[in-house]
Amino acid sequence: MNIPFLDLKAPHEELRTGLRDAFDRVLDSGWYIHGEEVKQFELEFAEYCQVEHCVGVGNGLEALHLILRAYGIGDGDEVIVPSNTYIATWLAVSYAGATPVPVEPDERTYNIDPLRLESAITPQTKAIIAVHLYGQPADMDAINAIARKNDIKVIEDAAQAHGAYYKGRRVGSLGDAAGFSFYPGKNLGAIGDGGAVTTNDAALAQRIRVLGNYGSLVKYHNEVKGYNSRLDELQAAVLRAKLPKLNEWNARRQAIAAQYLNQLDANALVLPHVPDWANPVWHLFVVRSQRRDALQKQLGNAGIGSMIHYPIPPHLQLAYGELGYAAGAFPIAEAIHREVLSLPMGPHLGAANAMLVIAACAKDITTSP
Ligand SMILES: *Cc1c(COP(=O)(O)O)cnc(C)c1O
Repeated sequence: MNIPFLDLKAPHEELRTGLRDAFDRVLDSGWYIHGEEVKQFELEFAEYCQVEHCVGVGNGLEALHLILRAYGIGDGDEVIVPSNTYIATWLAVSYAGATPVPVEPDERTYNIDPLRLESAITPQTKAIIAVHLYGQPADMDAINAIARKNDIKVIEDAAQAHGAYYKGRRVGSLGDAAGFSFYPGKNLGAIGDGGAVTTNDAALAQRIRVLGNYGSLVKYHNEVKGYNSRLDELQAAVLRAKLPKLNEWNARRQAIAAQYLNQLDANALVLPHVPDWANPVWHLFVVRSQRRDALQKQLGNAGIGSMIHYPIPPHLQLAYGELGYAAGAFPIAEAIHREVLSLPMGPHLGAANAMLVIAACAKDITTSP
């Protein structure tokens, strides 16, 4: 038996003809950066996310970085981030020259805990980056209310949550601006790097266009010192071919998640908790166990791929030694990182394979002391 953690080839097999058309269109156009494909994708993705503006950028990290820059957030400023997230969320803040200030998550949803936000806010705080971790929306109404009261920006890190709903509204439309990643493994993935910013703030969208294109809106006229961070035509064409499939593929993830939630042993594993206002898109299906490493080995022996998201929290990474956090500084995040395991999940996993994953998890419980 061999069940991979994620099958990246299957979605492209399903769309082979459409993808070939996309390649041909770009080849034939003779135009490879900032052309018709990017323009159309931006319109289509903005509509999908229920926002006015979408700006294609180089990747998800750049999307967050450019949002911070465009808001003028940098040296001496603080930005609140989850203590448990992929390090890119923190790196975007560091890139901008600001300091990431970690806040612990809610134990049940793994998303930033609004009740802990207020005490982390200082006069230097300029923004909160809320991550919709594993594809489940954070509690945005509570976060927005605190942000409004303290006059700070709310930025969504939506890199894992394309298409998720919060109280009936799409992720990407819930704060001041949102950053998306189209890294190949994401729910909407390119065949290379890509990213986007979504927002209803026209001025912000315009600033990001300028910043991501060398600080220039009119070619060779540079208003500011910008960056090179662009979604290219080929990736945009691929994303346009895949976007119409996203809802169906997310629904297939939801079916697998329902199967897991119904049939995994909730006494032996901590299963994901979904608040009634959340409609997650299951970028990852994450279980928690104090015997995580043994469980992963057991699955591996059964030929089943699994991964840990993530093994080391950002505050304990060498890269963030400068912040001086010791082990124990963020105990909730640290316990999560010790205990989480991501089971196989994806639109092409199938119910039969999911059943085998469930059986292999159960075996671990019955055959171990
Ligand atoms: C993938 C990811 C990013 C970064 O996206 P890239 O396109 O790889 O730069 C940022 N935040 C989160 C939560 C992610 O999962």
